Amino acid sequence: MKVGIMGGTFDPLHIGHMMAAEAARESYGLQEVWFMPSHIPPHKHEAYVSAADRLAMVEETVKGHEAFRTLDWEVSSDGVSYTIDTIRKLQEEYPQLDFYFIIGADMVQYLPKWQGIEELAQRINFIGVERPGTQLDLGALPQAIAAKVLLADMPLVEISSTQLRERAAAGRSIRYMVPDAVYDYVQRSGLYGVQPRSAD
Ligand code: ATP
Ligand code: MG
Repeated sequence: MKVGIMGGTFDPLHIGHMMAAEAARESYGLQEVWFMPSHIPPHKHEAYVSAADRLAMVEETVKGHEAFRTLDWEVSSDGVSYTIDTIRKLQEEYPQLDFYFIIGADMVQYLPKWQGIEELAQRINFIGVERPGTQLDLGALPQAIAAKVLLADMPLVEISSTQLRERAAAGRSIRYMVPDAVYDYVQRSGLYGVQPRSAD
């Protein structure tokens, strides 16, 4: 069985993440995609919301797709996990599964700097999608890595979590840029500077 892993900080989860996961699923016949929010170290607290909130936004959203699941291993761990360590553990736990790690163009470009990338490229495939701002150029990667990057087509989505945090903080709407479940959660909980909505 082929399983996609969609990793990210998801602070907040947005439609670029969802479309990347869906494009990868459809293009390569993945039976499931597991969304894996990462741990954010406290000293780097760019995270404007708690790990529990980031996880809850993912859980509420993936409920709406029959093939999407949540994997809370990294977000629930005490420290930062390197992808290589997570993949080793996943393959130990699920030896029958074939993993595909889904990433946007900005991450594809940085693959050579990933901890343990050589071993990682032997263990799994990557599925890369286009993202505005970075050229998706496999020719710029070492051959051993490039050979393990598959490409999936998706429309360019010029949305980032950074931009959404800024919009929300400025009092601007993020509706339809995030899944409905995320929009509702942000409104209800008053995240990113949004005024919590009173029950009416
Ligand atoms: P931030 O601005 O906080 O870095 P982000 O929008 O980049 O947030 P991440 O959680 O950092 O979101 O990204 C998780 C994964 O999703 C990465 O592989 C990233 O390349 C990919 N991704 C994020 N946004 C898009 C997008 N608009 N189009 C395609 N891929 C995306
Ligand atoms: Mg990012």
